[in-house]
Amino acid sequence: MVRAHKQEQESAREEVTEVAPGVLRMELPIRMPGLGHVNCYALLDERGAAVVDPGMPGSATWKTLQQRLRRAGLRVKDVHTVVVTHSHPDHFGGATRFAKESGARVIAHRSFRFGVAEATHGQPEVSVDDLAAHAERRTQEPREPSPTRDAAGHAPRPPWKQGRTPWGGEPPRPPLKMRMRWRLARLLGRLSFVPRISDPVSGGDVLRLAGRDWFVVHTPGHTEDHFCLHDPEEGVFLAGDHVLPTITPHISGVSLHADPLAAFFESLERVATIQPVQQVLPAHGHPFTDLAERCRAIEKHHVERLEKVKAIGRELGLAPVEAFSQRLFKPRSWGAMAESETFAHLEHLRLLGMAEARRESDGRLFYSTG
Ligand SMILES: [Zn+2]
Ligand SMILES: [Zn+2]
Repeated sequence: MVRAHKQEQESAREEVTEVAPGVLRMELPIRMPGLGHVNCYALLDERGAAVVDPGMPGSATWKTLQQRLRRAGLRVKDVHTVVVTHSHPDHFGGATRFAKESGARVIAHRSFRFGVAEATHGQPEVSVDDLAAHAERRTQEPREPSPTRDAAGHAPRPPWKQGRTPWGGEPPRPPLKMRMRWRLARLLGRLSFVPRISDPVSGGDVLRLAGRDWFVVHTPGHTEDHFCLHDPEEGVFLAGDHVLPTITPHISGVSLHADPLAAFFESLERVATIQPVQQVLPAHGHPFTDLAERCRAIEKHHVERLEKVKAIGRELGLAPVEAFSQRLFKPRSWGAMAESETFAHLEHLRLLGMAEARRESDGRLFYSTG
């Protein structure tokens, strides 16, 4: 079966387009599973520009960024502010470089956090379904992200670092080559591409960008530290990865949040009510207009998935997360990432009182959905 084309998978184009008054869209190339580009937005004012989500770390992106800025009549030193919507490398990559070269302040949510654990286990951006769809369209292997370390140096030790996932399964393990490279880079101490956040923000804060006020909307779900920006004057909504036009963002079961799916639902519902919104600017894919409709569609996807998990539970009885996952996904998607999404849904049901969990003596978590 040939799947529908996903605009988030398109390669980055060179054109710089004005997508809202004083807001330019610059597409930067990324090589991440399920994605072809990331949108970096430049918000112009009389002092220069703020950039939102300046792409992956590394010199290739930096070179492209400079080309795009030149096309827009801007220089690196015109960038006085960097806004990072959440702690994924394709969004914060260029921030450190801007801070160094132009002295730009770096804005992120006050809970911004990226550690060794996240880096060494990869950064899933899109749902397992959308990954599978992308794999059908691509033959080459996605390139691995670069090494990193926790900026603060004291990331909490997540359960899967202790050798097992929270549901007692095999942890996701990146290829040996990638792990060796990280280990080496860590030894050499050349890992600090995670930006230092000079201006942490919270939900409700107001930022002056492109000569007008933008409201910070905290939207935990895809990550705990994700936020969007709303400009009520021109009706512009910078959506980050919270709401993408044709792809469902990955909601990991391995999260600091007890119920990341509930957080995501709450964020979607809150965002769906925001007005006025004429133009939605996502971090991947093209601008779109109906924010509430897209929020409802993503919510519906998860509600259907929850129903399916319940139906699987009725057939299987008490079963481990792996068994649920292998019924929920096709064999080509089986593995830790699919289990992580399944686990997020099972935990959501459990916390709603619609499932029960029991840990067996071998450490594996079993669920029944009644
Ligand atoms: Zn992301
Ligand atoms: Zn992203």
